[in-house]
Amino acid sequence: MSRIRSVSVCLARVPLASVTSFATRTVSARDYCLVRVRSAEGVEGIGFCYAGSSAGNVVRAAVEELLAPRLVGQESLRVEGLWQELYQEALLHGRAGSVMRALSILDIALWDLNARAARLPLYQYLGCCVLDAVPAYASGGYYLARKTPKKLGEEMAGYVKAGFTAVKMKVGRLSPAEEEVRVRAAREAVGPDIHLMLDANNAWSDLPTAVAYMERFERYAPYWIEEPFGPDDIDNHAKLAQRTRVAVATGEIACGRWYHKELLEKRGAEVLQTDAAVCGGITEWRRIAATAASYGVTLSPHWFHDLHAHLVAATPNARYVEFFPDDQVLNFRRLIDAQLTAKGGKLLLPKTPGLGFKFDEKAVRKYALTPAKPWAMITSP
Ligand SMILES: [Mg+2]
Repeated sequence: MSRIRSVSVCLARVPLASVTSFATRTVSARDYCLVRVRSAEGVEGIGFCYAGSSAGNVVRAAVEELLAPRLVGQESLRVEGLWQELYQEALLHGRAGSVMRALSILDIALWDLNARAARLPLYQYLGCCVLDAVPAYASGGYYLARKTPKKLGEEMAGYVKAGFTAVKMKVGRLSPAEEEVRVRAAREAVGPDIHLMLDANNAWSDLPTAVAYMERFERYAPYWIEEPFGPDDIDNHAKLAQRTRVAVATGEIACGRWYHKELLEKRGAEVLQTDAAVCGGITEWRRIAATAASYGVTLSPHWFHDLHAHLVAATPNARYVEFFPDDQVLNFRRLIDAQLTAKGGKLLLPKTPGLGFKFDEKAVRKYALTPAKPWAMITSP
């Protein structure tokens, strides 16, 4: 048995080296909420989420004031029971957004803690499909000042040269004609056999606009069109899925099994990108994945490749991990002490217990919003 002695929480703000844009936002820094859950035996599990490009303290407050006090003194192996109790505790504040992210990262930390206590890598503790490596796609193609279509093509070709057989780029910020030039440049640079994913980041709000873009993109055989509309606009996702021959992917900021059930029932997505650090943790992610399997829908989870490599390895209907080749976009990479290795388009699974990495405390101190005391520790209910 493994009783929870303390929960610690930290908010880190990591600036981007160069200001980066996608269809609907421009980002200059990223907030990450970090948690450590420690057992009476001294085993520590970690959890983390993206807490937006400002005001990440909303997530931190939900951990510190609402949820962590419910965990202290509890048995860490009781993961399902604790999930239910945290969800119940958060009914008025939560069920989506920042509070669901807070619940998610505590749930991730519990799984990590229990896997570390069992001395097993997380994917093995979960009961995995594969033991060595998982398929990954290289995620990039952001809008940067002076990144011409030719340079975008060179970036994409660089990922292919590094061994990836699937690559992703952003779309939707410019006019249909300008976007077609970018997509054509990417397709010509990578050749016909590479999966080319397109990410619109909620760019469109009506079907005719989305169709105007998709009719131009279809001739370059994209593998999927990601987040064409806002996450709550499930009906338009379903309508677009009927109009285009490109698979629709979405779900990266979707929460909870009930939302996903509606998305699946309306056939709004052929690919779910559900993020365990958003949707309700590993516990809820696995419920959603199991439901998706009964609809013949696959999962390629959103970002945090260090976390999602474990889940893809342990889920028969998961396809790809989203991999960020450098620490510029997913600058969370600067906060941890070990990096996954990509080889031949796959990520090699770690052999060490739990998630296989810890926070780099020096980096945490550097980026913490409260550097003199990065961590707030909760030790009593
Ligand atoms: Mg995306």
